Amino acid sequence: MPQLIVSISGIRGIVGDGLGPAEARAFGLAFGTHLGGPEGGGVVLGRDTRPSGPMLAEALKEGFLRAGCRALDVGVLSTPGVAVAVRHLGAGGGAVVTASHNPAAYNGIKLLSSSGRALSREDGRAVRDRFQRRAFTEVSPDAIGRGETVLDAARIHVERVLAVVDAERIRGRRFRVALDPVNGAGGAEMVRLLESLGCRVHAINVEPTGEFGRGPEPTPENLADLAEAVCRHGAAVGFALDPDADRLSLVDETGRPVGEEYTLALVCRHRLSQERGPLAANLSTSRMLDEVAEAAGVTLYRTPVGELNVAEAIEREGCLIGGEGNGGVIDPRVCPVRDGLVGAALVLEMMATSGRPLSEHCSDLPVYTMVKEKAPLGDAEASEVLEAVRRRFPDARLDERDGVYLAWEDGWLHVRASNTEPILRIIAEATEEHTARSRVREVMNLARPPG
Ligand code: MG
Repeated sequence: MPQLIVSISGIRGIVGDGLGPAEARAFGLAFGTHLGGPEGGGVVLGRDTRPSGPMLAEALKEGFLRAGCRALDVGVLSTPGVAVAVRHLGAGGGAVVTASHNPAAYNGIKLLSSSGRALSREDGRAVRDRFQRRAFTEVSPDAIGRGETVLDAARIHVERVLAVVDAERIRGRRFRVALDPVNGAGGAEMVRLLESLGCRVHAINVEPTGEFGRGPEPTPENLADLAEAVCRHGAAVGFALDPDADRLSLVDETGRPVGEEYTLALVCRHRLSQERGPLAANLSTSRMLDEVAEAAGVTLYRTPVGELNVAEAIEREGCLIGGEGNGGVIDPRVCPVRDGLVGAALVLEMMATSGRPLSEHCSDLPVYTMVKEKAPLGDAEASEVLEAVRRRFPDARLDERDGVYLAWEDGWLHVRASNTEPILRIIAEATEEHTARSRVREVMNLARPPG
């Protein structure tokens, strides 16, 4: 069944099976109309490397132009690169043709506000409603928007990142680094950043083909080749990105993929060694972060899952830094979006400042085990299962801002309904692996229909 997922942050689907040029054009008309057409300040348009990207980007651009919007085409660029360009160019908004870590057959369109942040709920809903009701304004032929090509927008992003770290100190270390950008949009930007920081870069999967040389998520099981490259070249660190470069994970100098949760914990602790200020992260992010915040005597603001929620908390509470445990670092000095480049620069700065290898930085963080599962909902209502979960664990501290979040001395359990699929997402973290596993198993049993 052809299916296009239309949400308040954009659209996503399988190309040729619900998502094609007609949908992209209509979405461009919807966003262009929402921005006010000719008065809208223009839209920055970028894409990741998926083979369907040029086709969808052309159609999306046509939609913007027909709505009277100026379209500023930055070509292949990371999602944070597009966000930085929106602010730098003073545009009314941004659009990225990407399906992030989804398989290559998928594509989508993600929208950004004029501040470079994910679109607000209100704006997202307005664009979605326009798209669904086909409530567009097509301007007269003499008012059609202009298309412009912005050359080398990657430079803007790289310079913004270089400006927030001690580049001289990092250059002085002449780090040897390995890189795996999964043939996505972040390869060229990342190589440029790392070389600007004096690194010798050994890159794999760097050609921007969109034919992903490994599983697109930067999770440990997908990083065997990067681990091997770290060992072969004697690199101090391996950096892995997802296809639109807003998630970063690390391989230490011994060739061990340390897991995505470490990225944010390490980077937050490093920033707190420079400056004092609160942190923000979603509820499903490792408890390592609570300990990092506690050790520094600062507040960690927890939010419901979703990049926008974290970005809003960072802005509202004036946070130093924040993000998501999946490797998404948000440094408000660069842009209010997850950014793999600033994450990598901060890791290098941490290593350069301390003179200690990455494995040591990881080993003095507390050890937890995280277990993630999905449970199909079948005919059950998510709310019924969540209620059963709540009743099953009456001894825990309860937070109901995003599904059911239960906390104990030794860990936590987070159960929430997916926004895009009929499944429950179950995540547990505990000091002991068996504790996390048994809590997840109990939820799986509760979710299983009787009989
Ligand atoms: Mg991504």
